[in-house]
Amino acid sequence: MPLLSVRNLNVEYRLPDLKIAVKALKGVSMDINKGEIVSIVGESGSGKSTLALAIMRMLKPPAVIKGGNVYYNGVDLLSLSEHEFNLKYKWVKVSMVPQASQNIFNPTMRVKDHFLDTARAHGISDEADVLKRASEVLEFTKLDPARVFNLYPHQLSGGMKQRVAIALSLLLNPELVIMDEPTAALDVVTQMEILKLVKMINEELGTTIIFITHDISIVPMVASRVIVLYNGEVMEIGATEDVIIDPKHPYTKALVQSTPSLSSSPEEVRPIPGEPPNPLEDIQGCPFWPRCQYAMDVCKVEKPREYNINGRVVRCHLYEK
Ligand code: SF4
Repeated sequence: MPLLSVRNLNVEYRLPDLKIAVKALKGVSMDINKGEIVSIVGESGSGKSTLALAIMRMLKPPAVIKGGNVYYNGVDLLSLSEHEFNLKYKWVKVSMVPQASQNIFNPTMRVKDHFLDTARAHGISDEADVLKRASEVLEFTKLDPARVFNLYPHQLSGGMKQRVAIALSLLLNPELVIMDEPTAALDVVTQMEILKLVKMINEELGTTIIFITHDISIVPMVASRVIVLYNGEVMEIGATEDVIIDPKHPYTKALVQSTPSLSSSPEEVRPIPGEPPNPLEDIQGCPFWPRCQYAMDVCKVEKPREYNINGRVVRCHLYEK
């Protein structure tokens, strides 16, 4: 049984002023196995963060979960009362490093107070125990607790803030951590250090990790599997190496070709044609057809089903044959 299984998840943002509902996730299904690092990759607006927040039950209005299930070890997290979810699962089993986590800190609270506050929110009030555990996780993230405990957020560098955010996510020893763009807004050297840390958490603590990024070039450095999202739908799922070397879905292909690497010449880098989809527009058929060089008539009217090609999941009419 997968550790986490998302089935047919649908999320909408209701915009009463415009009298419309924007479909942010459309039937997303995916499995995460215990002990792996899986990357969810896609352009901005593809639904990556909405998916993370839906799993954590942290979506706020006007977002609404319209249907689907999120099973954790077979228990549907979406069917639990808020009290039971917060008590037994949130941060205890599944925690999160939110997007732009460098800005999540309360500027008036010292680092140690963020740990105490997080623990208190889960009914843990023994300060000595919490600070002991906080020291352990800070040391694991290569920060000196004696130095950072009494610092305020503005006294930390971007890299240090990211490490504190990661340490906070580990405070209650969760089995699964969702990291939303943990390397965004960091310089290249700090990015590499954070990627190393993510691997270390997985290998040494055995933590399962969902690593969300818009940057497919860093995925091979950290994840063994990759899930490609576009316009709120899964396009392709496969082993990272296979997907990067031989992408099957035209969107994945375009994403890989649009990413510069140290070995590619500027001529080899090709931007994805067209514009990312307008979230207010409901595209019929395959969501990628307006930008796809292989688009056929059927693509404009019929949603492609899921094809399994040697263990790779691909949603594209090209594989009908
Ligand atoms: Fe392109 Fe059609 Fe495949 Fe969509 S289904 S990616 S439009 S070929």
